[in-house]
Amino acid sequence: MILLLKDTITPNELNDLKNLLDDKKLRYRHLLLNLKQLFIIYKTPQNFESESMISLPCVESIIAIKEPYKLASKQWQKHPTQFDVKGVNIGGGAFNMIAGPCSVENEDQIFEIAEFLHKHHIRFIRGGAYKPRTSPYAFQGLKKEGLKLLRKAADAYNLNVVTEVMDVSLIDEVSEYADIMQVGSRNMSNFYLLSHLGKIQKPILLKRGMAAKISEWLMAAEYILSGGNEKIILCERGIRTFDDTVRNMLDIAAFPIIKELSHLPVFSDPSHGTGHRDRVIPMALASVAAGCDGLMIEVHPNPENALSDGPQSLYPHQFESLLPSIKTMLHNTGRTMDCEIKEQLV
Ligand code: PEP
Ligand code: MN
Repeated sequence: MILLLKDTITPNELNDLKNLLDDKKLRYRHLLLNLKQLFIIYKTPQNFESESMISLPCVESIIAIKEPYKLASKQWQKHPTQFDVKGVNIGGGAFNMIAGPCSVENEDQIFEIAEFLHKHHIRFIRGGAYKPRTSPYAFQGLKKEGLKLLRKAADAYNLNVVTEVMDVSLIDEVSEYADIMQVGSRNMSNFYLLSHLGKIQKPILLKRGMAAKISEWLMAAEYILSGGNEKIILCERGIRTFDDTVRNMLDIAAFPIIKELSHLPVFSDPSHGTGHRDRVIPMALASVAAGCDGLMIEVHPNPENALSDGPQSLYPHQFESLLPSIKTMLHNTGRTMDCEIKEQLV
């Protein structure tokens, strides 16, 4: 349940309300979001008399939300979340492409991909500089050097940067170079990191944990939202199943389900969601058909020699061949890709 407070509320009225909630032994949190004051009551007892609350002069309205995720829910916000990243709209009917290599490897590699994306009017480049790897002996990323190269390439080709933040201690450093910070699958349940990301205003791409239920994924988003950061993109990247034919099983049903439950934009990552480049294109198209708001795709100038995720990285020519099909599918549903908006401007 959410108690939305009037903006005329006085400090005394706020104190009285807190005392009242304490008397009723309710578990609540008081939040100030976008100049809106609210109380989130986590579990509302069955015999709770909401009338006694609504009659208080400082309470604007009471919104009963039965889901454990409150601010991420459609009940709290009916209209789709939309925000701007350096002049590019995300969510609310917009469609965006994020593409690039799994990892930033060297200057030539990242500049080659940046030039390629620019040629196709793509607006977001991705690349990991701090990499979460299963083996401590595998390439761990170029770290700060990688961030600098990614930013340099992005600036040279007028692209926005998406890159992963692995730890609270790296938030300041990564946010200096990134336009969108990615929370990887392995960190979806790092609630301490999520809470810290709630306190900044940088957009967050929140990947689904590889064994996370949709409700757990939305609860992770709730951690960020409840800190005051409303710029969140959910990203479906496949889940673990019993079937080892695929690296991960891209959950296509997640797109209509998220649309039903939440106002947050949801992207698809068919690269990690399949683990194999030949399956990326069909699953990218299936995701668009299922209603995703954007795609994140790994593309590498030379996938055989990639330092991470080569088998799932598209060759540039494959990426090129995907674009017209996506545009056609979007047009059929009355939508446009962000890169086409750019094309019309040049
Ligand atoms: C990635 O985007 O390169 C990555 C490591 O993703 P995930 O967290 O989904 O495995
Ligand atoms: Mn990867």
